[in-house]
Amino acid sequence: MSNPTGLFRRRAAWLMTTALIGALGLSAAGEAANPVGKPRRPTRRAAPVRKAAPARPKPRIVVIDPGHGGPDPGTIGLSGHYEKFVAISAAREMARQLTATGRYKAVLTRGGDSYVALRDRVARARSAKAELFVSVHADAHPDHMTRGASVYTLSEAASDREAAALAAKENKADIVSGVDFRGKAPEVTSILIDLSQRETINQSRTFAGMLLESLGKKGVGLLARSHRYAGFAVLTAPDTPAVLLEMGYLSNRYDERLLLQRSHQQRLASALVEAADRFFASRPATPASPPPSRPASPATPAAPKKA
Ligand SMILES: [Zn+2]
Repeated sequence: MSNPTGLFRRRAAWLMTTALIGALGLSAAGEAANPVGKPRRPTRRAAPVRKAAPARPKPRIVVIDPGHGGPDPGTIGLSGHYEKFVAISAAREMARQLTATGRYKAVLTRGGDSYVALRDRVARARSAKAELFVSVHADAHPDHMTRGASVYTLSEAASDREAAALAAKENKADIVSGVDFRGKAPEVTSILIDLSQRETINQSRTFAGMLLESLGKKGVGLLARSHRYAGFAVLTAPDTPAVLLEMGYLSNRYDERLLLQRSHQQRLASALVEAADRFFASRPATPASPPPSRPASPATPAAPKKA
């Protein structure tokens, strides 16, 4: 009885040893000989190296659109100054100040005294991947006492008859080169609103409020109802918050003089930078980026001043 038991024990020991060696051998050779075999924890070990978040947030793209240009002078002031020149002069200062912060990349829709159709201005803003669009104009009024800046945002219904008339006048710019954009503007506007572009419009309104506050703080005279609504063709990019700034009235002697002054253009530009800083502070560029640095400005801006 002892013999079979001893044999069984030896065989069992031998089997266990070979099994152990086999198991060890298999595990050692398995990875080399069978690279497509089931790896144990492949995904964790092969995790891609994470790129460090950029030290600086990407500059935000602000498109500045100087109104009119080329054969379209825009409004002609009391002393004969053309809106198109006032607009580009102010727009260049705005672009300069935005770029100087390092936080913005400013793009102008026209660089010189050239004609750019309204729809092309919108297209240029979109191809530049604009995150904010500011069209820059100066107004005129039959009453030469009327003065002050105002900011318009897109709306199907104009805030009043004057706003509607102004939109019609600014939209007329495309007729100069034979392209009639008048008929298309309301249609485009209504499509945009139908397509639930409410969020963009809401953002535009938020920015308009911030810009008006900053202009007031910088001492720029404002119209009584300074935030207005109208169907401007140039404000119809569906995904870009956009405002139209009427910097003042060339039909008013005081405003006309101010708009030609470099110091006043600098004031307008610094108000834009401040408003853009506030606007983008709550809109991080990318989730991984650190928030853009804020300017050392008071947290509570003053209420807009009346002109
Ligand atoms: Zn204009």
